[in-house]
Amino acid sequence: MSSSPSRVLVVGAGLTGSLFACLLRRKLKDRKVHIVVWDKARGAGGRMSTSRPPDPSSHSADLGAQYISATREYARSHRSFYSELLAAGVLRPLDCAVEGLRHKDGSVDYVAPLGMSSVVKHFLLQSGAELFLEHQVSGLYRRGASWEVRSKRGGSHKFDAVLLTIPVPQILQLEGDLPDVLSVEQMELLGGVSYSSRFALALFFPPGADVGVPWAIRYYNNYNNDDNGGKPNVICYAAVEPRKHATEGDAGRGPSLVVHTGAPFGLQHVERDVEEVRPIILQELKRLLPSLPQPIGIKCHKWRYSQVASAVAGCPGHMTLSERPLLVCAGDAFTHSNFDGCLASALSALDAFGEVM
Ligand SMILES: Cc1cc2nc3c(=O)[nH]c(=O)nc-3n(C[C@H](O)[C@H](O)[C@H](O)COP(=O)(O)OP(=O)(O)OC[C@H]3O[C@@H](n4cnc5c(N)ncnc54)[C@H](O)[C@@H]3O)c2cc1C
Repeated sequence: MSSSPSRVLVVGAGLTGSLFACLLRRKLKDRKVHIVVWDKARGAGGRMSTSRPPDPSSHSADLGAQYISATREYARSHRSFYSELLAAGVLRPLDCAVEGLRHKDGSVDYVAPLGMSSVVKHFLLQSGAELFLEHQVSGLYRRGASWEVRSKRGGSHKFDAVLLTIPVPQILQLEGDLPDVLSVEQMELLGGVSYSSRFALALFFPPGADVGVPWAIRYYNNYNNDDNGGKPNVICYAAVEPRKHATEGDAGRGPSLVVHTGAPFGLQHVERDVEEVRPIILQELKRLLPSLPQPIGIKCHKWRYSQVASAVAGCPGHMTLSERPLLVCAGDAFTHSNFDGCLASALSALDAFGEVM
């Protein structure tokens, strides 16, 4: 083990980072490798985040990913992961009323009754990794056979190998030696990645509140020419929790409602402050669902990097930026934006680590 990495840093406690940490731990078994995960946020989950209600009398709300759809091929090739999550009670088959246009291609759908972040937390727990929240990486510096990783809050730590799972534009903003490490071709490939942007709004209601709609999930079109003269529709998706999980939930807690804006609307407003966009979404919600009761709390979130629109070309799964010391980047930008995309990326990054560990 003397020449093998013994301190591995995973940057990002989203699904890709958590899966990778878990896969690495399972692969290394009892070998003494210290796996550390840093995330800039206050909780794990990344774009699979579950927002706590402002008051415990409401249900939580998934602000990002809503449910997991596995194509037939992925249901087969990733079967062991689905079985693990189903056996642990983290996932259960989606069994609720869905209205509106939805692409159905024979895929199997699953919901996470404890919230989508529980999927990420399951793998983090399995990894045994040491998790540091509110640790934003600001720069990476090559120091002989290690990476010195600096945190925005001050201080730095040395690691023998690093996996970056943060959105690609944020990788390109990191300070330090990355520009010297990246080849011109890699820089161009990473520069070509693009994401859609969206806003998510969650409304939390008191116990006993009736949201007054018959569905658990409702899709709206991105555009509606009849209604607004071809301008992008504000809202493209809405879901009621805990109804989405086909449970009554805790009777002592009120429901929550999440809406997502469409990608065209997100693109149009992405540079605006969340507080400026929130009233526009609320007004549209009032028009679509006039009988909604008064919420006891509202949260609005901007997903600047929502789902990958153009993935890294010709580089499926991961990209090795430096072999010694090892620096790899991975995430849905190297595959596609869903559970199976993150898993495929984590498995591919594991291969890159396998060559040196
Ligand atoms: C609105 C929305 C709806 C979606 N719907 C679905 C769905 O229904 N089903 C589905 O399967 N997928 C869906 N997705 C996509 C899915 O959420 C993503 O593909 C997946 O969560 C990406 O995981 P990741 O780990 O690759 O990246 P992320 O989840 O983005 O994780 C990256 C992590 O890095 C952290 N980070 C960023 N910069 C730094 C830094 N400098 N230092 C330290 N940490 C940093 C972030 O805080 C984040 O936790 C949706 C996404 C969004 C936004």
